[in-house]
Amino acid sequence: MRTRGDSRRVFLCGVAAAALLAGSSLGSATAGGGRSAAGPDVSEDSLRGHLSFLASDLLEGRDTPSRGLDLAAEYLAAQFRRAGLEAPIEGGYFQIANWKMQEPGREGFSLSITTGGKSTRVGVEHVGLGSGPAASVENAPAAIVNTRQGLDVAQLPEELKDRVVVAEAAPVPADRTERFQAIRRRQEFAAAAQKKGAVGLIFVQRSGVPLRGVGRLVNPESPPPPAPTGGGLPQLTVVDPELNAWYDEAAAQESRISFSLPATAERPVVLKNVVGVLRGSDPVLKNSYVMVSAHYDHVGMREGAGDQIYNGANDDGSGTVGVIELASALSRLPARPKRTIVFVAFFGEEKGLLGSRWYGAHPVFPLKDTVAQVNLEQIGRTDSSEGPQVNRAGLTGYDYSEVGKILSEAGQATGVTVYHHPMNSDAFFNRSDNASLAEVGIPAHTLCTAFVYPDYHQPGDHWEKIDYANMARVVRTVARGLEILGNRPEAPAWSETNPRASRYLAAWKKLRAAQ
Ligand SMILES: [Zn+2]
Repeated sequence: MRTRGDSRRVFLCGVAAAALLAGSSLGSATAGGGRSAAGPDVSEDSLRGHLSFLASDLLEGRDTPSRGLDLAAEYLAAQFRRAGLEAPIEGGYFQIANWKMQEPGREGFSLSITTGGKSTRVGVEHVGLGSGPAASVENAPAAIVNTRQGLDVAQLPEELKDRVVVAEAAPVPADRTERFQAIRRRQEFAAAAQKKGAVGLIFVQRSGVPLRGVGRLVNPESPPPPAPTGGGLPQLTVVDPELNAWYDEAAAQESRISFSLPATAERPVVLKNVVGVLRGSDPVLKNSYVMVSAHYDHVGMREGAGDQIYNGANDDGSGTVGVIELASALSRLPARPKRTIVFVAFFGEEKGLLGSRWYGAHPVFPLKDTVAQVNLEQIGRTDSSEGPQVNRAGLTGYDYSEVGKILSEAGQATGVTVYHHPMNSDAFFNRSDNASLAEVGIPAHTLCTAFVYPDYHQPGDHWEKIDYANMARVVRTVARGLEILGNRPEAPAWSETNPRASRYLAAWKKLRAAQ
């Protein structure tokens, strides 16, 4: 989830052990079922065990796509298999999305600079390239621009026709906002140079990692428009001591530059939603579905000093292991829910809800028969930026559908207050994977413990910082909620009166009308 929080004071509510799971079949202790009086097979140790692997450095922050993400997918499938879930996709748990990755091409790159009869070649290992079409320049005169005090378009000479501009640029900072501003300054500089007739631009960067264009995931069913860098002016960044020296000394002399920049390269990538099923026990209701989900990706690794791995333990390793634990707990119930429970871990949430949108476009089970989705996000950390959140869970779109009340009812049995956050329940509704399914009409919500927390999208989001005792109570609450949703004869409905729910209600009516 992406966040901006208020500073509302929160209270802690105690929990009476005797109230735990009262009246729930999840709470009934059965011999050999591994249940305690405190609930079903939701154990702190189990949650900790799963998360310490999924958020380990080995998985390198589970970027989409990455080997770390593939390892996580395989682990999820193994846990679904262990829980005895049905594998609904041709006998497997993977819903495959064959996408493409567009990245700056490096094959065939060359750059040479000639000054006073002496030629220097710069190797591709010193170079950061952007995305765009192939471009080349033969023996163009260089325009060396002094930007040592900072990139400033006022430093550009009036006449740059057919010249290659060479300018110094500071390394791009790691901080997201500063990074964005630095990149924008470079692009403005490039646009101004192009306007004056330049045919190429070389940024001399004295230290750090050369700025590179980022890879772009492409869904073949909805390809984005091509995105050339710098308004189309061919450009590159060089970090090379030899070029620094040349930049400092060559200004007085005539230099000529030749380069060949490869076009953006495209490679196939295989992305996976992981889907497992607990078949319902009722002959009729088993043909309707309750989904519980989380995203198993995070933001991967970033270049910079210190810890470079963004482990994403709370976001959303916590939701992911919640789904694993729910699969295990619900599949061991003496009486299965009447409706079928669908467990899903989505790829690509951090890149724009990609996996859940893919599911919405390629539903494994009919959307019209999917009665609700409970999505789990950030359910491990209780040290919210708004103060401690013990025995509390916020729900997005709380009053948009009946699911809010149902989860609150579940929380009464487990001692967890499922609440409507005065600001964030609305503000976060479209920021996680519930949004993809709400769009098509399914009452879909995201449950979290902390909307905002100190290590959000930082390398310090580590598994050791999770409150596992509280997380176990939250997961038990969800288990109870799924049980209610799974056994309830009526499907939960969108609110007819809340204007914020009206577009989802309209989508739901359309979905129902189509059957
Ligand atoms: Zn998230």
